[in-house]
Parts: sequence; structure tokens; C-alpha cells
Amino acid sequence: MNSLPSIKALSLQITDACNLACSYCYFREKEPIGISDRITSKALDILENNDDDEGNWHINLFGGEPTLFPGSIVRLAEEATERGRRKGRCVSFSMTTNGTRFDGRMLDICQRYKISTLLSLDGGQMAHDKHRLHHNGKGSFADIYDNLDRLKRAPNFKARVTVGVDNVPILFNSIKEIVDLGITRIAMSIVAEDNWTEDVFRTFEDQWLKVAALYLHCRMNGIDLAIKGLYQDPVKDLEAACASSGKFGCGAATTFVFVDALGDIYPCHRYPGYFKKSDSVKIGNVFRGIDQARRSYFIEANRRTAKQGCGSFLSSSVVQSPWCSRCAIQGSCGGSCMAINHNANGDPTKPPSAPGHIQRIMLMVAESVASTDLMLAR
Ligand code: SF4
Ligand code: SF4
Repeated sequence: MNSLPSIKALSLQITDACNLACSYCYFREKEPIGISDRITSKALDILENNDDDEGNWHINLFGGEPTLFPGSIVRLAEEATERGRRKGRCVSFSMTTNGTRFDGRMLDICQRYKISTLLSLDGGQMAHDKHRLHHNGKGSFADIYDNLDRLKRAPNFKARVTVGVDNVPILFNSIKEIVDLGITRIAMSIVAEDNWTEDVFRTFEDQWLKVAALYLHCRMNGIDLAIKGLYQDPVKDLEAACASSGKFGCGAATTFVFVDALGDIYPCHRYPGYFKKSDSVKIGNVFRGIDQARRSYFIEANRRTAKQGCGSFLSSSVVQSPWCSRCAIQGSCGGSCMAINHNANGDPTKPPSAPGHIQRIMLMVAESVASTDLMLAR
């Protein structure tokens, strides 16, 4: 098993609990617990024991809502930094947060340990409070708004918009509202489990074109806006999209693993949520170690350049093979996310059509803005 890749990163569930009850959260059955220091230490052993003497370590703080347990974050950051120092590794951190509890102490922690901070934010009040609610049904936008100045001072601060089919018609407004809040680094995540119909895709395309126009308008006016899918090096992106990558996969189970607050190890953060912490998708436990045979299964599924095609893109649906390796946008789509595939089809290599379809629309729009963006970059 020595030939398996080194694990260089951990996604660590600081707590399974959350103060919100967002309607599309894939963690359905939460336990009201935080990670213990013992489990944290054992999780860090994974980095040390799988270290091949190259590269640095990264730790993503995940939840539930990690800011519920600031003390656990500090103890983790201290121990990880010290253990990294002894091994000659730099350790970087990132965190996904709902932002409702981002007080002065959290900002201080994020700044002290340089924790890159990703805020889940779906737009202005109306868009955000559609899905992101407290347990009593109250929206959470107002709490975030109160903390926004602090959040914007967190290292590498970004917002991520979650887009389900009912948010598609307001996508442009939602992103504009976020830009109007002074947030200039924006990413997007789609709810692949929703019912994405042809009508929804058409609406998405209209909305995304408007987002592209907003993006160009801001950049022409000197606003350094970055919207994932639009802002990157467009020419490079489009070339990459047309080339089949031999190094497929997002790294789940391969270069990183997810450790939940109970100490169970999964390929990535989506697995315990989608599969309700089922043993069938666990690849180990911090006390018993990693089951390398189980891990190998997911490494192979993740890496396969020939995932079974989704059939949503013209070159994958008709010609000789239905597999992703024949698809012109494989380099960008990646054959979809292994966890989404597994959840939708019971097979990590079999993509549903929605992610690829959306990726294709985003690439078409990116192509249409590429020349203007390059001109602005000069
Ligand atoms: S769009 Fe994505 S999932 Fe569909 S065939 Fe192409 S690479 Fe595979
Ligand atoms: S399998 Fe999907 S959700 Fe998990 S890390 Fe990879 S891309 Fe992300």
C-alpha cells in the first residue's frame, strides 16, 4: 500500500452541530457534539503518518458550524502548527462558515492562524433567507450583515452562493446584491440533487450571461471583482477545458480525507451527509487507522479519466463512447463530483447530467467574456 499517494490535507469536522437549519444542507442527521482534542490529535497523526517528506499541510475546518467551537479551533491550530514545525511543514488553514457567529474573537483567531474564510451567502436578505434559516424559522441574513465588516477582514475572505433550481431565476440579483455589499470574491455551488429541467438550464444561461455582464461592467470600472467560472485566465481555462487531463480527480481520498467529529474517516465532507454516516462509505477511523483497500476504491473512482459520461454534452452523447474521456469539456467538468455521482447514481463514476450541463453553459459564457477580460487585464 506504500504506493498510494500521500495525504497532505485534512478536512476536519470541528462539530457536527449547527445553529442553522438550511433547507439544502446535506448533513441531515446532526449530533450535538464538538470534536474532542483526542480525536483532533489522532486526525493529525494521519498527516504525520502519511508524510512523504514533500510539500506542506492544509487543514480545512468544517462543520456543522465550526465557529460554535472557537476553543477547539485554537487548540487544533496550535497543535497542527507545532507538529508541522517539527516536521518542517508549513500548515495552512481554511474554514467554511455561515457567518452568524463571527465575532471579534473569531476574527482574531482567523487572523492569528491565517485561516482563509469562506462565507455561505446566497444574496441579499430575500434570497438568503429563503433557505438559510435558524431552527426557529428566522432568517440568518441580519446576523451576517451585523458581522460583515469583521468577515471582510478575515484572510482571503470569499463568499459562496449555493444555487438550487428555485434560486436560479434570481441568480443575477443575488450576485449583484453580494457585490453591492462590497464582497468581490465570489464562488458558486449548485444543488445537484434538485430537479434541473431544460427550462431551468435556459433560465440559468440567461442569468449567468447577466452575471457576466455585471462582472465586465465592474472590471471596466476598476472594481477588482472575481467570480469563479468567469474570473481566471480565460484563455488558459478554455484550453484546459479542451484537453483531457490525465490527473483527474479532486483529491478526495487521494491527497485529503474528511474526519468527522466522531473520528470516522470519509473520502470527503459530502459523504457522511449524503450517506447518513453509513459504514459503507467510511474509509477508516482515527483510532483504527485508514482501510487502504477501501481508500483505493475511491482513489481509483476519483482518478478515472473515463468516468461514465452524463450524456448532456454533444460529444459525449453520440460518438463512439458515452464516457467522459470523449467529452470536450472533460478537463473542466472532471466527470462531475464523485460524491454527487455516488449519491445520484450509486456509482462514483456515473455522473448525473446537471453538473456537466451547467459547466458547459459556464464555459460558453466564459468564452464570450474572455477577450474583453484579457483586454482589461493588460
Ligand atoms: S459534461 Fe462532464 S460528466 Fe458529462 S460527459 Fe462531459 S465530462 Fe463527463
Ligand atoms: S468528491 Fe465532490 S464534494 Fe468531495 S471533495 Fe471531490 S468535488 Fe468536492
